[in-house]
Amino acid sequence: MKTVCIKEILEKGTIGTSVIVRGWVRTKRGGKPVWFIDLNDGSTINNIQIVADPLRFDAELFGNITTGACVFISGELIASQGGGQSVEVEAQKIEVYGLASSDYPLQPKRHSLEFLREKAHLRPRTATFSAILRIRHSLSFAIHKFYNDKGFFYLHTPIITGSDCEGAGEMFRVTTMDMNNLPKNEDGSINYKEDFFGKETNLTVSGQLEGELGAMALGKIYTFGPTFRSENSNTARHLAEFWMIEPEVAFFELEDNMDLAEEFLQYLVKYALEHCKDDLDFLDKRNADEEKMKKKEDQAEMGLLERLNFVISNRFERLTYTEAIEILKKSKPFQKKQFKFPVEWGVDLQSEHERYLVEKEFKKPVILTNYPTAIKSFYMKQNDDGTVRAMDVLIPGIGEIIGGSQREDNYEKLKNRALEVGIDQESIWWYLETRKFGTAPHSGFGLGFERLVMFVTGMSNIRDVIPFPRTPKNAEF
Ligand code: ATP
Ligand code: MN
Repeated sequence: MKTVCIKEILEKGTIGTSVIVRGWVRTKRGGKPVWFIDLNDGSTINNIQIVADPLRFDAELFGNITTGACVFISGELIASQGGGQSVEVEAQKIEVYGLASSDYPLQPKRHSLEFLREKAHLRPRTATFSAILRIRHSLSFAIHKFYNDKGFFYLHTPIITGSDCEGAGEMFRVTTMDMNNLPKNEDGSINYKEDFFGKETNLTVSGQLEGELGAMALGKIYTFGPTFRSENSNTARHLAEFWMIEPEVAFFELEDNMDLAEEFLQYLVKYALEHCKDDLDFLDKRNADEEKMKKKEDQAEMGLLERLNFVISNRFERLTYTEAIEILKKSKPFQKKQFKFPVEWGVDLQSEHERYLVEKEFKKPVILTNYPTAIKSFYMKQNDDGTVRAMDVLIPGIGEIIGGSQREDNYEKLKNRALEVGIDQESIWWYLETRKFGTAPHSGFGLGFERLVMFVTGMSNIRDVIPFPRTPKNAEF
């Protein structure tokens, strides 16, 4: 008898055949005439129902089959008597692999997300988190498929980096030095020559700079790896460790970059709708329940599935930063002084402004371009009006999901801009050299993977879309 997963049995099991199922007990009901056990093995959101005749088993066994216990069951697949599923298993043999003691925290009732964050070692066993993790998997796979099908190459950029030009101040130091006995220079400063790499090193905040080197050789590359930012912003959209996808393409101008970003996001949402139907149906209902508990004016206009379908069937709105500032200045919340942060040409947009544009003004994803030079990174291609060829993609419920740009391909301009913002030329000599040896127009962007998973699952806190979140003062699991 072959062991198959519950997903396979529910989808294509033949009535009358023998089956083995193994999994964790979600609920157990019944008593004298018959026992019912709902079992889940993580392969699908759906449980399989086990029916067992108490006369065939020890009474003690029934007491051991509690929520959270892990069991082995062999039996016959029969047509379901109840409404829910099409098939169920009539148990012939039951074995308990692992009891769940009475303090098992996940009882068959709704637990708050905050409570579950403290049980991160067990929360993947809940319906909500298993659905999120399966969707997270599918989206990862879809990302590789999308780029592979388009002829992009997956480039592995380093996680330990010696350049700090992107994230000055928000990087995690990597060192093997003894913190209690640091080697010092004569002037009292720390002597990093003594450190493992012979220089200061950090965890990467982005694979972009190395990604550009790849694009200048392979043409079309993407990275997909972990990135680290020690920003102390305890928001619902920031993690200290998150995953980022960064395509970088030779000969792409900003417009091509926008087209790629839009096609990419729509492809991923469509992929999830096609491949994660059961999980999304579950999350759609969950989302609707959550919305009902909110005040009327805070409720989202669309349900989760409606929102996802809307995003794949409508073009994104494209406008410049300057146009966005004009719209914001004419907006009701600005006039009524309801924005917390200033709206002024030259000042960066805050989440409240981005969400106004996306959720109130256009009611769809927006791509903003051509930001003031001063508020964007040094490597972005300069226009001649004090702006750079940057683009941010903003989506409903989240705000910024993608940040990207056409890159400055002119050696002098790039070098001067780096100098202006105080970047140590020596640490990025290799980056600058790409503009000396066969430079080319090129563009790329970074998609925050967890923000994508938030959007697709409808979860509103980024801590709930990654198995083990890393945030300030939190690295328990
Ligand atoms: P934000 O303004 O939201 O902090 P950013 O401008 O710092 O974003 P980029 O440096 O452009 O972001 O990074 C590219 C993408 O990575 C962002 O669009 C976002 O999706 C994601 N991202 C950035 N910082 C974080 C973080 N701390 N946690 C999770 N995702 C992040
Ligand atoms: Mn940031």
